[in-house]
Amino acid sequence: MFSNPRGTKDILPDEIGYWHRIEKVAHQVFSAYNYQELRTPIFESTQLFERSIGNQTDIVEKEMYTFLDKGNRSLTLRPEGTAPVVRSYIQNGLHKQQQVSKLYYCGPMFRYERPQAGRYRQFHQIGVECLGSALPFADAETIALGVHLFDELGLSDLSVNINSVGCSVCRPVIEERLKQYLSSNLSALCEDCNARFESRPLRILDCKKPQCQPYFSAIPNIRDSLCQACNDHFSSLLEYLAELGIEFNINPRLVRGLDYYSRTTFEIISDKLGAQNAICGGGRYDTLVEKLGGPATPAVGFAFGVERAVIILRELEDALQTKAPNLFIAPLGENQRTKSFYILNELRRAGIQCEMDYTSGSLKAQLKQANRYRSEYTLIFGEEEAQREVAILKKMINGDQVEVPLDQLVDYLVKTINQQ
Ligand code: ATP
Ligand code: MG
Repeated sequence: MFSNPRGTKDILPDEIGYWHRIEKVAHQVFSAYNYQELRTPIFESTQLFERSIGNQTDIVEKEMYTFLDKGNRSLTLRPEGTAPVVRSYIQNGLHKQQQVSKLYYCGPMFRYERPQAGRYRQFHQIGVECLGSALPFADAETIALGVHLFDELGLSDLSVNINSVGCSVCRPVIEERLKQYLSSNLSALCEDCNARFESRPLRILDCKKPQCQPYFSAIPNIRDSLCQACNDHFSSLLEYLAELGIEFNINPRLVRGLDYYSRTTFEIISDKLGAQNAICGGGRYDTLVEKLGGPATPAVGFAFGVERAVIILRELEDALQTKAPNLFIAPLGENQRTKSFYILNELRRAGIQCEMDYTSGSLKAQLKQANRYRSEYTLIFGEEEAQREVAILKKMINGDQVEVPLDQLVDYLVKTINQQ
């Protein structure tokens, strides 16, 4: 007996309906905002992630699935989607086609984390990247898009947390003030926090360890240390969001776990998710494109976790019923079974979702099967019907039966079943 690798999961038929719905709504909403899908490989060169996400991050230090291929190249299963999108954007010259490129992606990501509820080693993200605009409209639109998407999915009780982490001008000031504040308690903070204190002090605020939390409660307000341009950007963004009717909390601790963020960071959280409460995270990354070898291009984006969206949807609704065939064909006798096999094919070609008995059971057993499928109609086709060139169509909900001549069967069923 084999089982799936730790931290992965099978998405079984009783769950897949949620996935299809999330993907469909995402495609629709993204297209209303003029986004186009981009698909990149599942593995990339390891350096791409080291350079973009940053060396002193949980992802690069501990979580990457990195391996040498048979040609001795160091490759990594993508832990996130932004770096691959930016790599592709530069490599394919998408920046030359339009001033602003809006790209989205869907697919599996890989992080070697401790598996728990809502946290997997292979998980799925759907994300958007808006490249080419430095205006706070782009940030506001991106956040509004996330909120719109979750509204459309019926995910309620979500809250938007937002912050600004400044830019290369004010970041040193922000970091210095934070270091001063944390320095007296350094010995009480965890090993990771200590390791980050000198070179990446802001990252400390992303630490999730309970022992460190009390020391973050009264950190200096980042907003007071922002440069004028960052402060103006942040104020405009908040104004636009308020005008759009989007509620938000300013969370001065929200710094996000990747190196590339500048100015805006945000997260959408749900209290239905327990400890892993973030469903969506994102922010602005104005230096990443240049850092990866492209022209200086301001950008903003987010990614949300599909597994976590499914957890919330499942809590809100009873299990989605798997889609039943509309029609079940119950033949009796060898010749009728063969003939039914061809009828089945014809009906499917005509767009009718149907199934037939493949077990040669009795009529009773076959009707039981039809009920188990929750199919709306059963077509009974025995020897006597075959002789008269008809079949009996039985409506399962009330047992009503009609005889349909075989040569009119397809037309009749298309009319009857598609009228539902
Ligand atoms: P967390 O704080 O939960 O670790 P994160 O900040 O690492 O999240 P991001 O890198 O911003 O997450 O990814 C965006 C979204 O992807 C998260 O909000 C979450 O919904 C989802 N996600 C991230 N890591 C995992 C995982 N290991 N398993 C399932 N979903 C995940
Ligand atoms: Mg994480």
